[in-house]
Parts: sequence; structure tokens; C-alpha cells
Amino acid sequence: MNARREISIIGAGLAGGLLATLLAQRGWSVDVFERRPDPRRRGYEGGRSINLALAERGLHALRVAGLTDQVMAQAVMMRGRMVHPFGAEPQLQRYGRDDSEVIWSIHRGRLNLTLLDAAERAGARLHFEQGLGDVDWARRELVLGTPEQGLQRRPFAAVVGADGAGSALRQALAKKLDLGERFEPLGHGYKELEIPPADHGDFRIEPNALHIWPRGGYMCIALPNSERTFTVTLFLPLEGPHPSFATVRDGDSAEAFFREQFADTLPLIPGLRHDFDHHPLGQLGTLRLSRWHDGEHAVLLGDAAHAMVPFHGQGMNCAFEDCLDLAERLTAESIDIPAAFAAFERERMPNAAAIQAMALENYIEMRDRVDDADFLLQRQLERLLAERHPGRFVPRYALVSFQRVPYATAFERGRIQREILIEATRGCERIEQVDLVRVDALVRERIAPL
Ligand SMILES: Cc1cc2nc3c(=O)[nH]c(=O)nc-3n(C[C@H](O)[C@H](O)[C@H](O)COP(=O)(O)OP(=O)(O)OC[C@H]3O[C@@H](n4cnc5c(N)ncnc54)[C@H](O)[C@@H]3O)c2cc1C
Repeated sequence: MNARREISIIGAGLAGGLLATLLAQRGWSVDVFERRPDPRRRGYEGGRSINLALAERGLHALRVAGLTDQVMAQAVMMRGRMVHPFGAEPQLQRYGRDDSEVIWSIHRGRLNLTLLDAAERAGARLHFEQGLGDVDWARRELVLGTPEQGLQRRPFAAVVGADGAGSALRQALAKKLDLGERFEPLGHGYKELEIPPADHGDFRIEPNALHIWPRGGYMCIALPNSERTFTVTLFLPLEGPHPSFATVRDGDSAEAFFREQFADTLPLIPGLRHDFDHHPLGQLGTLRLSRWHDGEHAVLLGDAAHAMVPFHGQGMNCAFEDCLDLAERLTAESIDIPAAFAAFERERMPNAAAIQAMALENYIEMRDRVDDADFLLQRQLERLLAERHPGRFVPRYALVSFQRVPYATAFERGRIQREILIEATRGCERIEQVDLVRVDALVRERIAPL
């Protein structure tokens, strides 16, 4: 039991900032230890993507923390995918029914600053340049700092690892118990480029969309920023024959490659060579663990527990849902911390596994399927069935992005719905050829109302 309600959080990134806010708002005494300098004084050090898609799960957690107004003031609405097929006109594929079902592009650095300010306002103490080096489990002490700047020990009552995919708390936990850690690299990496505003100061392409240039084994995407720029991300295999980051390896080869495959984007990215040569090559993968907590006083969440590939735009959303789940479990009057950590793991682990699987599937869909005729017909039927069976046939994308049903439920219902769509459109080229009477019967037989 932790009668004093004291908690240490490792990492002041997205999850760490939100969890600190939620727990401090609930009366916990919170200390957050972050490896990097204070971004409010020293500028935000990037590292991961510049912007992110925020959806209902993340928004809900921000709403509970009272932060939506601040965050949404900077957000840009994305109604759907603007698909740019090779050599053809772009087409918008809406994500939802109307503008009540959209996702939002937000700036990672600004969101992080908002969360840090909120955590401090709520009473959390933030300690920067205090990276976790190790944990002395026997004495229940965190070893913080760097060998160069000096290490210090701090006792802890309970500790949460919100220190991202390379989590030091995870490494420390792995010294005392088997976490069943498996990291599956995707084999594809990413590079970020920028579309600046047009000369008259406006966006250069449709702002309210997530742009995709699908090319089969690889793709480019672009998300809008409130300063009227777009962040373009090129995803390619890391190794292998052209095109891969082994053959597209510098500004010159990138420009030639874009001329060949993404010709319409070339005039939009005047700094392509510079960006390519100066921005880091990001790595992607899926982290799976069989345990997130030690049965005592330590637990992992967010990317530290379940890093995923970014193709469903849910890593942060899932991390925020983790934070809210854990904070609510720690709000009970008499708190049994080990029991709360165990219940958190039981609830969240299968859901994290489900969104990890859906994120991997979405890479194939985005880069390879979004401009296929059979895919488009299935999407058309999906929309029709959603109208004919509200509350029963809900597209998987909507379950993940606009609702908060558990990810595992979205995954399972999505599997059944996909089977129906494939079965119903087999041999059809147009929606009029689909036997709707039969499909309606299949929906009623195989899918329960939500
Ligand atoms: C290219 C790309 C695009 C993405 N797009 C989206 C998207 O559109 N939507 C979405 O929801 N998600 C997206 N994600 C996923 C999202 O970025 C992560 O899921 C999210 O950042 C996880 O938050 P976190 O707080 O767990 O980890 P992080 O954001 O990585 O934060 C970890 C923090 O811990 C600190 N830290 C690290 N080590 C230590 C240490 N030893 N001691 C103390 N502090 C430490 C770090 O400095 C950092 O501040 C994307 C990811 C990538 C790579």
C-alpha cells in the first residue's frame, strides 16, 4: 500500500506529461524525471515525427484533463485521405460520415509543452536532465543523471515507465524479471520533408486532409500544420533493391526518385535535397512484452510497453488511453498499487496487441490498397452497410478513431465485417451488383449490436 500517494514517472514526453497531470489533479504527489533539458527553456528537441494525428481516444483523455481548448486551438482538421494515385487526379476518401467524424493534425512539440505546463499547474514536480540510468530494486531507489554530470539516488514509492520505445525502466525491470520482450523491426524506415506555405501565405495543397501517395511497396504521406506547412513523410524499405533507403540515400538520389515517382510533389518541396540530407532516418517496429509490471511497484505504459508502427496514427492515442485507465485505477480511496498495476496490464495488454496488429495491416492498406478497384468497392459497400445497420455495422476505422470501444473489440468486429465485404463483392464491379438482401442477412446473423 502507498498511503502517501507518491509516484515517480520516468519520461516527460506525451504519456509522461499527461499521466503527471491526471495524477496530480487527483491529489497524488508526482515527480517526473526527464532525460532531456526543459523544452520550454531550451527549445523542443525533435526526434520522432513533427506532427501527429489525434483521434477520439486521445481527445477524450485530454478532455478529462481539461486540456482540449488549448490543444485544439492549434489543431488542423483532417476529413479523410486525399489519395494521389500515380499519374491520376487526387481523390478524397472521407474517414467518417461527416465532419463530426474526423481526425486532427497536431504539433508534437507544442502538445508536449502544453502537457508539461498542465502537469506543473496541477502540482507535479518536473526534473529535467535527470535521465534514469538504473534502478536499485533492493533499496527501492532510482539512479538518475549521467555519469558525466553525476548520478544521484532518489527513493521511490512507485514508479511508472513513460520513457518511450527505448525505455530505461524496461531495461532495469528486465534485470530482475523476464518481460518476454520481442522487438519486430518493420524493415522500413522514414524521412521527414517539408512543404512550406505558398508565396501568398496559404497552404499549397488541400489543408483538411491526410495526403497519401500510394506506390505499392512504399508511400509518401503529408499532414498539415497550423502554420500552413505540411510535414511529408517518405516510407521506404531500409535495404534492398531500388527504391529503398539503400538506393535513395542522399539529396541527389532523393530528388531523382521523387521526379520519377512523386513528380507532383517536387515543386511543393523546394528544400527536398536539404531536408533529405539533414533529417534523420527514422526506424520503425513493434515492441511486444508479456509483462508490463513487476507485481510490486513498477509498471510500463505508452511506447515503453507497446511501441507500434505509426500507420493507424494511434500510438499516442493508445498511450493517452493507457494514462487515463491507470489514473482512474489509482483514484480509488484505498489504493493497492500492485493490484492496480496488475489490473491495468490485464485490461490494456490485449488492446495494445490489437492496435499493434491493426497498425501493421494499415501500412499495406495505405501504400498498396487505397487506389485498388476492389478496395474502393468494398469501402462503398462498407459505407452503405453502416447506413443500413447503424450501431451494428460500424467501419473498423470508425471504431478505432471515432469511438472508444476496446481496440480488441474493434479488431474482432473488423475481421468479421471484412469477411462479409469480401464475400458480398466477390465477382462484382459495381455496387448495384451486390445482393443487398443476402448481405443484410449476413450482417444480422454475424454481428451483434454494439
Ligand atoms: C513517424 C511517426 C509518426 C507517428 N504518428 C502518430 C500519429 O499520427 N498519431 C499517434 O497517435 N501516434 C503517432 N506516433 C506514435 C507516437 O509518437 C508515440 O506512440 C508516442 O510518442 C508515445 O508517447 P510516449 O510518451 O510513450 O513516448 P515518447 O513520446 O517517446 O516520450 C518518451 C519520453 O521519455 C524520455 N526518456 C527517454 N529515456 C529516458 C530516460 N532514460 N530517463 C528519463 N526520460 C527518458 C524521452 O526524452 C521522452 O521525452 C508516431 C510515431 C512515429 C515514429
